[in-house]
Amino acid sequence: MNLASTTIGYPYIGGNREWKRCVESFWKGELSEEQFIFEMKTIRLNHLKHQQSLGLDIITVGDFTFYDRMLDLSAMFGLIPARYKWTGEQVNLTTYYAMARGANDVVASEMTKWFNTNYHYIVPEYEGQPLELTQNYILDYFLEAKFELGLMTKPTLIGPYTFVQLSKGYDSKSKASFILRLLPLYAQVLQQLVDAGAKWIQVEEPALVLSLAPEDIKLVQQIYKQLAEEVPKAKLMLQTYFEGLTAYEDLVQLPVAGVGLDFIHGADDNMASLRKYGFPQEKVLGIGIINGRDIWRANLAEKALLTKAILSLSGVNEAWVQSSCSLQHVPVTTKSEKTLDTTLLNALSFADEKIVEVTHITSFLSDENWSGSKSVSQSILAIQALEQHEARNNPRVKELLLRVRQEHFTRSMPFKERQSLQQAALQLPDFPTTTIGSFPQSDQVKRTRTAWRKKELSDTKYAAFLKSEAARWIQIQEEIGLDVFVHGEFERTDMVEYFGEKLKGFAFTEKAWVVSYGSRCVKPPIIYGDVEWTSPMTVKEVAEAQQLTSKYVKGMLTGPVTILNWSFVRDDLTREHVANQIALALKEEIQALENAGIAIIQVDEPALREGLPLRKEDWKEYLSWAVNAFKLATSNVRNETQIHTHMCYCEFNNFIEPIRALDADVISIETSRSHGELIQSLKQNPYELGIGLGVYDIHSPRVPSVEEIDTILNESLEIISKEQFWVNPDCGLKTRHEDETIASLKNMVTAARKLRQQQ
Ligand code: GLN
Ligand code: ZN
Repeated sequence: MNLASTTIGYPYIGGNREWKRCVESFWKGELSEEQFIFEMKTIRLNHLKHQQSLGLDIITVGDFTFYDRMLDLSAMFGLIPARYKWTGEQVNLTTYYAMARGANDVVASEMTKWFNTNYHYIVPEYEGQPLELTQNYILDYFLEAKFELGLMTKPTLIGPYTFVQLSKGYDSKSKASFILRLLPLYAQVLQQLVDAGAKWIQVEEPALVLSLAPEDIKLVQQIYKQLAEEVPKAKLMLQTYFEGLTAYEDLVQLPVAGVGLDFIHGADDNMASLRKYGFPQEKVLGIGIINGRDIWRANLAEKALLTKAILSLSGVNEAWVQSSCSLQHVPVTTKSEKTLDTTLLNALSFADEKIVEVTHITSFLSDENWSGSKSVSQSILAIQALEQHEARNNPRVKELLLRVRQEHFTRSMPFKERQSLQQAALQLPDFPTTTIGSFPQSDQVKRTRTAWRKKELSDTKYAAFLKSEAARWIQIQEEIGLDVFVHGEFERTDMVEYFGEKLKGFAFTEKAWVVSYGSRCVKPPIIYGDVEWTSPMTVKEVAEAQQLTSKYVKGMLTGPVTILNWSFVRDDLTREHVANQIALALKEEIQALENAGIAIIQVDEPALREGLPLRKEDWKEYLSWAVNAFKLATSNVRNETQIHTHMCYCEFNNFIEPIRALDADVISIETSRSHGELIQSLKQNPYELGIGLGVYDIHSPRVPSVEEIDTILNESLEIISKEQFWVNPDCGLKTRHEDETIASLKNMVTAARKLRQQQ
């Protein structure tokens, strides 16, 4: 048995986010292009040396990027939309970054979620242009590793089927010509790698885990047949991840030298396929056994056993032990964490630690006398210690969960009846105006918070500042003439961190960053213990603001599903269970707000859609518990209390049902960027609860005119009735400036008043 350790890819950002700093310095003009290229190369080579020092057998190149790997391929193939006025030859950094981020006179390419991760890629745009190989940076990376480090690496690139599936600009007819133009370029890239001595080339095809129609399967077969014919010497590792390989029995027979399978997220499907169809003996099997999506240390004994079982089921002679997907989705190393609870720290595993896990499983299975076998028992002990941690054994949380009954998931009165009660109690005008929650975080707000965090400002002084800022904005809201106010969220930087810091069960890291898109990184909190509410988190700020006005001030919370989806979550409980723990904590906060006299409470769920599983057939189950978690948090209120929610996307198609199921009295929703579509889907699928279709796009500093808002309001009136109609912007106003915010909201209020008069 020939076993080797490898990964699908390694994070490029660096343990101290060196990559991010380098890229951003270049954008700011602080680095010349030459310096920039040199520094990027230094980072790249350092990462290779580092992986080598961790003991990895096969190191991957081509997992590095200057912004995004899909964009890299577009640039490599000359797939440049006409608006960038590219003149042929190599794509320079100016054009490359214009596509990524837009430039003075051209808009950027679209960016969208990479499968079900929180990473976003740049969508390739096919405009029927002739394509050509403008450069082969994967070859450059392979050669620099070979000649400068003496390393025989495994180059990787996103495969043709996935690349085409994720591109846009073609229809069913032009798709064929797109592929026809693309394939010779892929073949050229592969040939050049073979000529340079590459022994293996990893071709990433995550799109092969999605549903595939018979014609898709045929297409994949044609693609790989053609590649095999054109580059017969290339040894391809067809790498899939994020789910089990679809149409396994056909696709596992593709003319490639190896197939990589995800035995974490696609474990059940892939195991079943292995059992049923076996595995082609002449191929190398890539065993994705270490989770590339979570941060938890693996039980190496279990993993080794499972790997062994997979090996014997497949009967192969050669296999790779690897991460389930690229490690770019996890932070770099736990070694940077100096302040975490040691039991927790010990049970964590980021990219570097996962590489070591992969090498340990490989050694354990290949060498009976392996000297590191103690690490296997250590992994078990670390996991057990965390299991026994008091944070995971909170009796009050357990008790609260046990007490949950079916009726806790529904409000005691149906919407229509609540609606009239609430209207009688709240006495709001028709077309009530409001905002989504946050007001501009000025430099002063940010500076004061930083000073407080550095302990240069006392808690009392900071609280006084927050109070005065909220009071100033209450005054501003009075002047604008809004109907329902907010306190402005000046105490929050982030929708999850703020609550995580106040709830039990969360931990915050120093450097556990992952890329969200381009150079933007996020540092999700870790939910490692039972989530418990211990004292009010938002009541003081909201109640203080409420005292300053006779208008209603909305309570403002982040919902359970969003908190869950934007965190790293413990893996010893189901996500549903953790969501319910968060929901129960929020339920207590909502009760505290009610007790403080708050009549309207908004529970934001911008990330509800993000948690959707990759495969449609799994949506139902997710939505059922996700919706339930929201309802568990929000149902136990007085009939008169009005529950609002907010979502920042408008892909309402397929989504009206779950949104209705939330049973929120009012939802505010992003609309302005695809108003027509939303109106269309609401026409087909009427919605009867309260709804505010965002009347202007808050992502732009532009002040919308009264007429513009007027038009939107009138169009919306065709599909939503006066009784359910709310008027609000698209999203929170945190990132906007004060002047433009006030001007825009004034126009919004004027338009709403005009509408009232017309009725
Ligand atoms: N209440 C939040 C705010 O206004 C909502 C943010 C969001 O939807 N992403 O900032
Ligand atoms: Zn939003």
